[in-house]
Amino acid sequence: MGWSERQLALLREIGIRVWAPPRAGLDDACVTAPEPVPTSAPAPDAMRESGLAAAAPSVMLRPPPHAGPHPGAAALAALDWPALRDTVAACTACRLCEGRRQTVFGVGHQRAHWMIVGEAPGEQEDRQGEPFVGKSGELLDNMLRALALTRGEAEPARQVYIANAIKCRPPGNRNPEPDELAQCEGFLIRQVQLVQPRIILAMGRFAVQALLRSSEPIGRLRGRVHRYQGVPLIVTYHPAYLLRNLEDKAKAWDDLCLARETVLADAVARTAS
Ligand code: URA
Repeated sequence: MGWSERQLALLREIGIRVWAPPRAGLDDACVTAPEPVPTSAPAPDAMRESGLAAAAPSVMLRPPPHAGPHPGAAALAALDWPALRDTVAACTACRLCEGRRQTVFGVGHQRAHWMIVGEAPGEQEDRQGEPFVGKSGELLDNMLRALALTRGEAEPARQVYIANAIKCRPPGNRNPEPDELAQCEGFLIRQVQLVQPRIILAMGRFAVQALLRSSEPIGRLRGRVHRYQGVPLIVTYHPAYLLRNLEDKAKAWDDLCLARETVLADAVARTAS
């Protein structure tokens, strides 16, 4: 697939300049310029999202004593979409339920080929009940558009599903605690089971902790294909981090290209079998 003028314009919008003509084959146009164009400054509430804050805590995800009822893994595995959404909305299993306006469940195609996993809702998401609607959401949408993907209505190959590792906003946008990640883990597992994506894009340190149980820095985990429940998973930087670290946008673009290549290779294998 070549890149249209529109896609090239979008790449420029997220700070990526393609400086070689598109090549034929799976990785066409995945050529990056290491000189991103500056974009807007991060919103104040993007600070927590950055994955740059204090060193990662241990990723032993130990459940705390329950503050409220929480279905076990077996019960969650039986839930369909409406039941899962209701269960999340009613969750009081950890302290985050106390400060939330609402839970932020997820959005997009329920059988999307691409699943994006972020960290936790910020203030805007807590108000609107949808993931990634703040500044970092704008960048995420631009990144998706550059790949001809969208969170809006489209067929499953184009409309992504977006969820967070944590469904409630941590107060003051602080980092999520390991026990909070542990409490929410079952919800994310069930979302992945229901979507059955062909690729998962894990954005940011806490998404990676939840999915891969690794506290390795993003820089050490990106650039290769991991697996989560048998689904190929690509690690990349959180959009809020990219808003503050423009020099890493080219690497994020490489990650998107790797994800795209992985999906295309999977499509070829499906056609062949
Ligand atoms: N950052 C995230 O990781 N998720 C959101 O929903 C918003 C910001």
